[in-house]
Amino acid sequence: MKPETGGAARLIVLLAVALLVGAGVGLLSFSLARRPAPPAVAPKPERPPDAGRAGGVVCLDPGHSPGPFPSTIDPASGLDVADSGGADGEVQTNWNIAVRAKELLERKGYTVRLTRPSVDSPANLRERADIGNACDINVRIHFDPSVHAVLFPAAGQTKSHGSSSLSVSEEVSSGSRALARALLPFLMPLGVTRIDNDMGGSSNNAGTAYVGSVLSRVPVVVIENDPAVVRDNPSGQERAAAAIAEGIDSYFKQAGAR
Ligand SMILES: [Zn+2]
Repeated sequence: MKPETGGAARLIVLLAVALLVGAGVGLLSFSLARRPAPPAVAPKPERPPDAGRAGGVVCLDPGHSPGPFPSTIDPASGLDVADSGGADGEVQTNWNIAVRAKELLERKGYTVRLTRPSVDSPANLRERADIGNACDINVRIHFDPSVHAVLFPAAGQTKSHGSSSLSVSEEVSSGSRALARALLPFLMPLGVTRIDNDMGGSSNNAGTAYVGSVLSRVPVVVIENDPAVVRDNPSGQERAAAAIAEGIDSYFKQAGAR
């Protein structure tokens, strides 16, 4: 092949390559121009996707009230339903955890009721139980210096005042045990080490059940958090609230699967 011919061929090849590259750039620009702009903010759904599956009604009971605590005999049960102030710092810490857990549960599609409208509002144990009984479950939030457990009433545990005595039914006990078991795995990383039965409390009554347990017609537990984790500690309270919300969600999903 003559050198001149080779030069012409190379020129043709170069022109062809230049045309192809040009066409490619043109196509790329076209496709970029045609790509639709991404939405600025993803639209927020009206309800979370799993709202239909969850959707239970949850009572969160932030333990204890500001005083005073006059003796209050409940006419229906004969028990003294006066509240108490709990351990130092409990009122505010329990309230903070309950409010945050309420937010997290509502995002999951649950309806949540607190037993008190504000941290400063007192509520006696009858009033708390009445709100709990209008829900599917009642989760009572506390901390204790020595007991770090999820407590549920055993069938037959009693509370009495004078000649009045109430005991826990098999039905309430078995539902409460299931609720305690669902909560425990989520609370264990926060130092809540076991489930156990009611331990009596300090009310002006006798018997090993809690007043809130014998007045309950729905599954009821007392969470005794570790004050070393939650007391006056926003990050510990956040973790406790998240654990409670996850545990409650787990309970309802297990109940739905049964
Ligand atoms: Zn307490």
